[in-house]
Amino acid sequence: MDYPGNLFVVAAPSGAGKSSLVKALMELDKQVQPSVSHTTRPPRGQEVHGREYFFVSAEEFDRMVLDSAFVEWANVHGHRYGTSKAGIEERIAQGADVILEIDFQGALQIKRIFANAVLVFILPPSWEELRSRLQRRGEDSADTIELRLANAAEEVAQAPNFDFVIINELFERALFDLKAIVHAQRLKFSAQRRARAATFQALHIP
Ligand code: 5GP
Repeated sequence: MDYPGNLFVVAAPSGAGKSSLVKALMELDKQVQPSVSHTTRPPRGQEVHGREYFFVSAEEFDRMVLDSAFVEWANVHGHRYGTSKAGIEERIAQGADVILEIDFQGALQIKRIFANAVLVFILPPSWEELRSRLQRRGEDSADTIELRLANAAEEVAQAPNFDFVIINELFERALFDLKAIVHAQRLKFSAQRRARAATFQALHIP
């Protein structure tokens, strides 16, 4: 189905800089709205319920799965994460651009449901750089970093299933690339015809 709004799905191994890029994009472009996922993992640091995630119990998550409340959900690093239906379809149907920051399993599920979803994979410039970013972040123990790197190898192997790839070597360059992808979607024929209906009519374009 062709919705007036775009659905962008951004995936990356942890440490590749996905969250910072998406946050910077949304600050620059207010038309792009986030989707807040549900998760069974406990909040970290300054995270706020309803802002970064809806933090729910395993029972509540089970209930939502049974109620078919999720468009997709997956187990990531030992916790469950899901994108709720509420909010996505309605918002893109109303013309908003929605961006999902989810793992590759979720991204591939989304593409099966929303064929026009734009899948963007963010890669680190090298394994060495990914390891040192995870170390610099200081959030994880050495064991967790090794686990994240092992998972990252599996995640990176999924990059060929995505529409676009951004290599996050220089943040500003990667942000430029992400903005370019969003902009290009808005220039597609169907999007332009919707946005510039009067011009199209005047030019007799069917
Ligand atoms: P974190 O716990 O570090 O916030 O996220 C761990 C991983 O789960 C990240 O790759 C993140 O993108 C992914 N994730 C967050 N929300 C969702 C979701 O709703 N669905 C899926 N499939 N993955 C998610």
